[in-house]
Amino acid sequence: MNPLPTKRIYCGEDIARPLVVWLNKKRRTNSPEWKVIWLIEQLQTVVMLHETSNDRSYSVDLQRTEVALINKELRRYVFWLSVTLQEGGKIGIIRKSRLDHFEFLYAALCLAGNGYLLRLRRCNQCQRWLFARFSTQTVCSKVCRQKKHRANPTVRLRRSEYMRNYMRERRRVLPAKREKG
Ligand SMILES: [Zn+2]
Repeated sequence: MNPLPTKRIYCGEDIARPLVVWLNKKRRTNSPEWKVIWLIEQLQTVVMLHETSNDRSYSVDLQRTEVALINKELRRYVFWLSVTLQEGGKIGIIRKSRLDHFEFLYAALCLAGNGYLLRLRRCNQCQRWLFARFSTQTVCSKVCRQKKHRANPTVRLRRSEYMRNYMRERRRVLPAKREKG
């Protein structure tokens, strides 16, 4: 029996974690991996259109075209199944493909199948990929959250107001200090 996980795993996170690491890898501009990323983003567009569009007739046509285009590309991603014998007579199932990045495309499709494809998104501060634990998450890290917070106009306003008050206080206090000194 597997030990129970001690850390909380959010839905889809186990699939998404290696995928996010892979997506954030630095790659050459002509790398074939861009094709996979393009496919993932195309699929995201289709899902997004489906979720947000009110004009059904327009979006259905567009979605059909987009899906056909995606499927045409997916035909290249042939894989075969292989098994390994594991401890206790358990069978491990492996998907094999001649294309190295096949597993990442497959992971993205699994997320899509579970309704989590749009959780895979780019941080709105640093543009790195992330997998959102909550549907509202838009930043990748603590650092980016702080950056976003500082960029928020109401926070900025509050900060500038604070700074103005602070400087006024200082000006009020400083001459008094000088007199003393
Ligand atoms: Zn970020």
